[in-house]
Amino acid sequence: MTIENMITVDVEDWYHICGVRDIIPEHMWPNFETRIHQNISRLLHILGKSDVRATFFALGYIAKKFPEVIRKIKQNGHEIATHGYSHRRVYTMTPETFREDLKRSVDIISSVTGEPVRGFRAPEWSIRDDSLWALDILLEEGFTYDSSKAPLHFIGNPDYPKIPHQLTLQHGKIWEIPPLVGSTPFANLPIAGGWGLRVFPYRFIHSAIRRWNDQGHPALIYFHPREFDPEVPHIRLPLVKRFVLGAKLVGTEKRLNRLLKDFRFSSVISVLETINARKV
Ligand SMILES: [Zn+2]
Repeated sequence: MTIENMITVDVEDWYHICGVRDIIPEHMWPNFETRIHQNISRLLHILGKSDVRATFFALGYIAKKFPEVIRKIKQNGHEIATHGYSHRRVYTMTPETFREDLKRSVDIISSVTGEPVRGFRAPEWSIRDDSLWALDILLEEGFTYDSSKAPLHFIGNPDYPKIPHQLTLQHGKIWEIPPLVGSTPFANLPIAGGWGLRVFPYRFIHSAIRRWNDQGHPALIYFHPREFDPEVPHIRLPLVKRFVLGAKLVGTEKRLNRLLKDFRFSSVISVLETINARKV
């Protein structure tokens, strides 16, 4: 049996960057050049060529400002989930503001798609030990799955499970879909997306997915539209941020094409349906 892996995309523009609110405050967003249309079109074209359906975690801000982008993604047969409204890391919010931000995003996204929103991805994988309360809120708000806990040092916790699993909370269960990590004796490496997916040798990423699939587990990969845009506008950012955002952008498309050629992919919700069907 060939395992279906998951391609996911955080639908945000190039200036939606965590941890730099002093440099790019939210009130400045409308002043920036918009590049989301062309970058999403590029991604849809690449996925379409391989006839792959993915999950797009849409930022509520984008759905409100550019509903045509969300409609186009949906018309191409992809799953639309949410990335929150205003791109704030979960652990910087109170439970009340998180719920407000979440519901605001769900209202706008479902009004555009006409369908319920079943999955959530926090900006910068920001459901971690000090914000696990967010999972209870997701469950209360009717979500089927979360994809916000990274089994990685610094961002999340290397002890978090690495495979899709069901979390048992006080009032029920919710699926957690972590990003693929590369296991080494020293640390788990961030190879599922962002700079890690662009910079680590392809054979390392390939063998990590192969190993996962051989054990019967699907791997989760993620992209940002700005990673398909070597012409992305420059802005003065701290050195680490510049590396994380800018390293090897010219190779992103090639890397996605190789993954699509070498493995099978689908949306998160479709993979969960397969897992659930197998259990019955
Ligand atoms: Zn994001």
